[in-house]
Amino acid sequence: MSDANTKVRARFCPSPTGDPHVGMLRTALFNWAFARHNGGTLVFRIEDTDAERDSEESYQALLDSLRWIGIDWDEGPEIGGDFGPYRQSERGAVYQDVLAKLAEASKTYKCYCTADELAAERDLARKEGRVSGYSGRCRDLSDEERAAFEAEGRTHVIRFRMPEQDWIWNDLVRGEMTVAGEQVPDFVLVRPNGDPLYTLVNPVDDAVMEITHVLRGEDLLSSTPRQLALHGALIELGVGSGAMPEFGHLPYVMGEGNKKLSKRDPEASFSHYIDAGFLPEGFVNYLALLGWSPGNDVEFFSREELARDFEISKVNVSPARFDLKKATAINGDWIRALPVDELADRIVPYLVKDGVLPAEPTEQQRSMVRVATPLISERMETLGQASGMLGFLFAGEPGCRPFEIDPDDAAKMLDDEGRAVVTAAMKGLETMQDWSTESIESNLRQTLIDGLELKPRVAFGAVRVAITGRRVSPPLFESMELLGRERSMERLAAVAQ
Ligand code: GLU
Ligand code: ZN
Repeated sequence: MSDANTKVRARFCPSPTGDPHVGMLRTALFNWAFARHNGGTLVFRIEDTDAERDSEESYQALLDSLRWIGIDWDEGPEIGGDFGPYRQSERGAVYQDVLAKLAEASKTYKCYCTADELAAERDLARKEGRVSGYSGRCRDLSDEERAAFEAEGRTHVIRFRMPEQDWIWNDLVRGEMTVAGEQVPDFVLVRPNGDPLYTLVNPVDDAVMEITHVLRGEDLLSSTPRQLALHGALIELGVGSGAMPEFGHLPYVMGEGNKKLSKRDPEASFSHYIDAGFLPEGFVNYLALLGWSPGNDVEFFSREELARDFEISKVNVSPARFDLKKATAINGDWIRALPVDELADRIVPYLVKDGVLPAEPTEQQRSMVRVATPLISERMETLGQASGMLGFLFAGEPGCRPFEIDPDDAAKMLDDEGRAVVTAAMKGLETMQDWSTESIESNLRQTLIDGLELKPRVAFGAVRVAITGRRVSPPLFESMELLGRERSMERLAAVAQ
């Protein structure tokens, strides 16, 4: 760890392209946990320098996703801070100023090579078995040579002059890392049209925002030597805090078939988890397990416990495997950990989304959800599963779907024998006095098990499909009590022979 008296300033700096995805949120979460664990500051910066790929929609989705998983930031969009603005698209002046300083100190130079020339250079290097990178041939152009290129109408990029040295850093996750100097040729900082690139703006902002710790995905490992070099130059020029940040590279997240989870995999997309009905608590818990764990086989913990226990040194070097089944099971544990009324309130929007409840559920419908929730919480792993299990309670009410029996379940359970069972059940219940779970159960047992000598699976299976429309439902007798005598008898009658 760094000096005890250096206050931690961690940063999370995504580019707003596409939908928020799991890898990005994992990086956000680890930076948040690291900052909170160390009593530091979390800086949230938007790297929106690629006007063609960035979008306002992604930016909003990004903010929404962070809020949903409960990450708060101390500086950044919507709250500002002493080092703003926090969107790189608004920081052009900072970059121009730094570029001028770098040029002045000959840390950069103009490169006039054409794409064809660069390709030819790469080919040659490959043939000769050298590292294929830029040779540095524009490093020391004379004024005349430059003028001649410009007279030819060539455009130029700006390259950084890499010092001749090996690059060594003590990675917070991976330990000591060394990259040989010849692996890292002079690199481009500014496009021919003058637009600054990630290679410039990311380390510049880390320097001027006085970032102390850079935690980010392993895919960025290869850019670290360049950032160390540029940052070193900035320190020499007196730009920024004057201290080199520490780096920690978080392991890859692998998906199915041990391939890197790609943005295109459905389970990589954040919206998948909202749609399925993950709880933020469950999702965060699982995200944290992608490369970290508190030890002692503990796998169930809250965001607050994560912040309390998070040690960057305990992050794994080896890739994390994304396991949707496990993520879902952990979410199920969180569902059961919630107080029942709260769980019910979180289920309601899913019932509305699925058309089980009208857009504005009545108080009566809400309280019905509360009463029914304990019947299903043991069987649920995602909130989205509630619709299938509770739909029967509201079917046919104003603004709700009509009652329907799943055709496959009907084919399996409501053949002639099944309908005969339902007919018998209906007759038995007709004369029953009070309509409670206990009396429904004993009445049906008497009629169907004792009377007709049926196996419970056959007897109750048919009644269950008639009442709830599905073979998988909340417990049958409770369901019938909740549905009420009148509607239960109607449904039995609709199926009876
Ligand atoms: N904007 C970069 C990205 O999204 C940030 C990289 C970094 O954390 O340094 O990949
Ligand atoms: Zn060149």
